[in-house]
Amino acid sequence: MLNVLASPFRHQPNSRAVSDVERAERLIDPGFGRVFTDHMAVVRWSEGQGWHDPSITAREPLTMDPSAAVLHYAQEIFEGLKAYRLPDGKLALFRADANARRFRESARRLAMPELPEELFIESCRALATVDREWMPTVEGGSLYLRPFMIASEAFLGVKPSAEYLYMVIASSVGAYWRGPARAVSIWASREYARAAAGGTGAAKCGGNYAASLVAQAEAIRQGCDQVVFLDAAERRWVEELGGMNIFFVFDDGSIQTPPLTGTILPGITRDSLITLARGMGLTVREELYAIDQWRADAESGRLTETFACGTAAVVTPIGTVAEAQGRFTIGGGVPGPVTTRLRDALVAIQRGTAVGPDGWMQPI
Ligand code: PMP
Repeated sequence: MLNVLASPFRHQPNSRAVSDVERAERLIDPGFGRVFTDHMAVVRWSEGQGWHDPSITAREPLTMDPSAAVLHYAQEIFEGLKAYRLPDGKLALFRADANARRFRESARRLAMPELPEELFIESCRALATVDREWMPTVEGGSLYLRPFMIASEAFLGVKPSAEYLYMVIASSVGAYWRGPARAVSIWASREYARAAAGGTGAAKCGGNYAASLVAQAEAIRQGCDQVVFLDAAERRWVEELGGMNIFFVFDDGSIQTPPLTGTILPGITRDSLITLARGMGLTVREELYAIDQWRADAESGRLTETFACGTAAVVTPIGTVAEAQGRFTIGGGVPGPVTTRLRDALVAIQRGTAVGPDGWMQPI
């Protein structure tokens, strides 16, 4: 068994690392998911041996056999979390323990070996440390970490793989918003569902995202920014967006979000906002909400705001919803006060200008 406390990650320096000037140029406005750092963390798993050979190596293309199980049966899971720079210059991970736990739960659902939580956290910490120069200096910039695991055994039978590759890559992320966030429009898909009861909706596996792309394309064709999925059985209950959870705000100041019934991803931003909202004295319900009710409440004024949330974009206000029955607008179609207050509270904790609940910010 590995001694994970004494950081087991062997570091092989990257001889092809980019120059300071090149890095600075790439960091001017990195956007999301295109500017990658110099290194990657790797841990292997094989039957009989368990987890072995953790290392930090130069980021480079993978070589694998064309029969590798992941390429055929999509036995793959991933995570997404961010490192932020604190006012004293140190880096900190936001709730990495929650991502580590969700990664284990995803692994269990996909019949994959569970990575020990300390090893998950240590891999993120080790990579963020070697690639700390990639943290953007722009206001609101962060380092996005992408841990993932693939089935790497060369075998065409449908069964859990006997070998896995766990890796972490990192990407510099620019500020997502400058000033008040723009309210987005969403398309409620009645044709496509994202997840059914008993399926993989609560796991963070690549297949869920492959299945969502055609619905996202439909949303764009309908002139919307994003898709919101309804439940698979009745196409009645609002579930979540392709990559974000959803919250509704009412005129009595209460907040509602769909419950974790197994078909939506248990978002860490969702969980954090529930905690912050309750701390502000707001009533939060985790209850089903029907699309027809959503329209009726938006039209009557009982519903005042709706927002989506997730690690990448934090909090995104939703201004318009388009569906089979036509469009409706929420509030004035602009970011509302509760959305803004919750977003500001979370961002202040992540940037280290406010103190959040114990253990949320984990200095590296
Ligand atoms: N739902 C889905 C389908 C997602 O992909 C994500 C992003 N991980 C979320 C919700 C939000 O989760 P989190 O707040 O943990 O980023």
